[in-house]
Amino acid sequence: MSSIYKKYDLKPVINASGRMTILGVSTPLPEVVAAVNLGLTHYFEMQDLVDKTGAYIAGLLAVESAVVVSCASAGIAQCVAGVIIQDDADLLLNLHAKPTLVPCEIVIPKGHNVNYGAPVATMVALGGGKVVEAGWANECSSEQLAAVITPNTAAILYIKSHHTVQKSMLTVADAVAVAKTHGLPLIVDAAAEEDLRLYYQLGADLVIYSGAKAIEGPSSGLVLGREKYVAWVKKQSKGIGRAMKVGKEGILGLTCAIETFLSREQESADQMVNKMQGFMSALNAISGVSAKVVWDGAGRDIARTEIYFDHDVLGVKATEVVAALKCGEIAIYFREYKANEGKIEVDVRSVSTSQLDVISQQIRQLLQEKPQ
Ligand SMILES: *Cc1c(COP(=O)(O)O)cnc(C)c1O
Repeated sequence: MSSIYKKYDLKPVINASGRMTILGVSTPLPEVVAAVNLGLTHYFEMQDLVDKTGAYIAGLLAVESAVVVSCASAGIAQCVAGVIIQDDADLLLNLHAKPTLVPCEIVIPKGHNVNYGAPVATMVALGGGKVVEAGWANECSSEQLAAVITPNTAAILYIKSHHTVQKSMLTVADAVAVAKTHGLPLIVDAAAEEDLRLYYQLGADLVIYSGAKAIEGPSSGLVLGREKYVAWVKKQSKGIGRAMKVGKEGILGLTCAIETFLSREQESADQMVNKMQGFMSALNAISGVSAKVVWDGAGRDIARTEIYFDHDVLGVKATEVVAALKCGEIAIYFREYKANEGKIEVDVRSVSTSQLDVISQQIRQLLQEKPQ
């Protein structure tokens, strides 16, 4: 294990920031690793593998249809391509090569047109779509969404994420109602969400998840939804989907991860709080530093440690602490959205108790306090 770090001159990482793409997202459980390994070491009739794992996942989730894709971004691009191309065999082979003469506008609330690490609009463009924004930077109502729908609209895209503007935004159920009224499909990007059934049950036609985030699978994505739409998405393997192909290992790994995810008891917020007790005591013993439990801002059942660095006492800013801890022999990454206010958050889900000890020791050392 550690020889890989040595061989390629890589830094070991303690990930206290959550499911972060820049750090490798998550570390799948042994049974998922075994499924990946089984995939890598066997042959399959690939079309059968795609169809039958998709049907298996659909059965687990009580949805009409599902397909494993290479990542959520590929899911967005292929859902967009699917609703534009539909059953047009010529367009499937000529998307981007010929002018698109069918509806290709994808309506999206302006506050959802975000950059999650790459822009949503780039994925829409990859799928042959043209983003049409509805509403304003800080608000979008059902009426504002409906107002930009024209005969050239192919679908409505809703991004369910902490990355988007949350205030004065229509809900997924509202978007479903608008889509139904106008006879359009609704695509929901729920990449990092934990509920694999909710948006489908609310009436979305296609729902997209990232395989490695909440589900903790290998790099992969899941598209689920109504039969007709998922069938259009699957056709993309002969078009743009070929450039974003998922391997047999990803297909089997994610299918296993979904099953495990549904059956395993999720670490509860109470368990997270228990895990961080000793860590918080160690931090609170350092003068100028205080630690307390905070709850996930997006309403998920996640507890985190918030550490406050008192600039007046320490003479050091939280932003400097964060920067320094990334530069140590072990790179430590925190949630640093509020670092400019002196606060950082520790997401303990991917951190062992011994790693929490390392973090508190490193902070103590950095602030040049002697161990007690
Ligand atoms: C992470 C994320 C994506 C992309 O997921 P990948 O699987 O990394 O492609 C898309 N949309 C949102 C809202 C995300 O949070």
